[in-house]
Amino acid sequence: MNFLKRRFSSGDLQGELRDEDFIPPVAPRKGPSPSAPSSPSKTTSAPGIGRGFFSANKPTYNRDRCKTLLVIDDCHTDWSKYFRGKKIFGDWDIRVEQAEFAEINLAAYTDSGCMVDIQVNRNGTKVVRSFKPDFLLVRQHVRDAHEDWRNLLLGFQYGGVPSVNALHSQYQFLDKPWVFAHLIMIQKRLGKEMFPLIEQAYYPNHKEMLITPKFPVVVKIGHAHSGLGKVKIDSPHSFQDIASVVAVTRSYATTEQFIEGKYDIHVQKIGNNYKAYLRKSISGNWKANTGSAMLEQIAMNERFKIWADECAEMFGGLDMVAVEAIQGKDGKEYIIEVNGSSMTLLGETQEEDRRHIAELVLGKMQIYCRPTPTMSKTSSTGGLMHYAMNGSQDRMGPNQPMSQQQQQMQQNQMSQMAGNNPQGNPANARGPGMMPIGGQGQTGPSPMPLPQVGRNQSMDEEDTMKNLRKTFAGIFGDM
Ligand code: ATP
Repeated sequence: MNFLKRRFSSGDLQGELRDEDFIPPVAPRKGPSPSAPSSPSKTTSAPGIGRGFFSANKPTYNRDRCKTLLVIDDCHTDWSKYFRGKKIFGDWDIRVEQAEFAEINLAAYTDSGCMVDIQVNRNGTKVVRSFKPDFLLVRQHVRDAHEDWRNLLLGFQYGGVPSVNALHSQYQFLDKPWVFAHLIMIQKRLGKEMFPLIEQAYYPNHKEMLITPKFPVVVKIGHAHSGLGKVKIDSPHSFQDIASVVAVTRSYATTEQFIEGKYDIHVQKIGNNYKAYLRKSISGNWKANTGSAMLEQIAMNERFKIWADECAEMFGGLDMVAVEAIQGKDGKEYIIEVNGSSMTLLGETQEEDRRHIAELVLGKMQIYCRPTPTMSKTSSTGGLMHYAMNGSQDRMGPNQPMSQQQQQMQQNQMSQMAGNNPQGNPANARGPGMMPIGGQGQTGPSPMPLPQVGRNQSMDEEDTMKNLRKTFAGIFGDM
């Protein structure tokens, strides 16, 4: 119960912790970051690297009218700067909390949702911060060679926290062969020509690894990223050796033909923004994503777009997706895998990519984090209001796969924010279709269909709120 006491005594539900209080943890780096620059040709470092990049900034949100975004990423990227000054629902700010999975703990409750603790390092002292996230951006792999944070993923889902990518889809990414199985389905639908997936064999354990394949072969053991657990095998004896290693890992393995590649192809889709890169090892490693590599942005083409669009349909819809392929020396392309919101950002356009991610998140928050009118985090009824506010997210079933129609409506909303708003500032983009539900700043009838919680619900909410206001006025006096 200490956990609970600490959580509720933090004062955070009343909004007392501020951006300026947050000194990001400086954790030792464990392998490449999803946001790390990958081009060795430049020595640019990710912005905000180093201790205290938040502390230089004044609090930038209105504590009475803000939504809390938890970004799961390492401290090499300062995500708060991409949300500074951005508004949702007209005049609501985004309060950004950032931590790695390793720094997060949580508890989730059926009625009140998900309460998060993050441990940050402040002048050498560990400080626990507690808050209730309204939205989640996951930029770290949920599972890797030595880590498995599905316990936290379960908690976020349990608490109904909406997320980019949707938690439902992130759960599907916990095992690479599971993802690959879905790629096989896409290939069956589109054909080998259109969707050139590499041929693979799956072994649940070492026991069936008897038939020696054509060499050289690549054996991929278990679920790991960044080249870990991938071995190139040249002979039957080495294959037997690696099968014996699989035996002690108690994990599954896959095998696939080693492709003599010219370079890797990386196709990414962030919201409606597409980019393609080639990546070529310059350190001689057969894994082009390990060691030094040369990066070059290449033109998107219809074929790459189909790959990205098809993969983005997986698991009920992926807001962010990256398709990895090898351009073989034989002139053929081989798709080898797909990543989600923890995708590595590449090259000189990372900054722009992060802005696209921020726009994507803002668009989703606009849909899933609707505030209930007149409710403020610092009102005297804070705790009660807090839960009421979160109830409003859950009605949308944020982590459920969306229907085509819902996706289309959401796209409409988002393109209004992004397309009609060159500054990318949703506050400026508050057109008729973007009016906030629930009274504040409504601008008139909407020519656009609003998503599921649309006009009718808005009116219902207003009625409910009128009644609530009356009730509270009876208890606390006029509100
Ligand atoms: P993640 O992208 O999730 O970090 P990973 O790096 O662990 O995954 P892969 O992307 O499958 O695993 O492989 C790493 C690199 O190894 C690829 O970028 C590619 O350069 C090389 N590679 C992978 N599979 C093959 C193959 N069958 N033939 C030749 N090279 C391969």
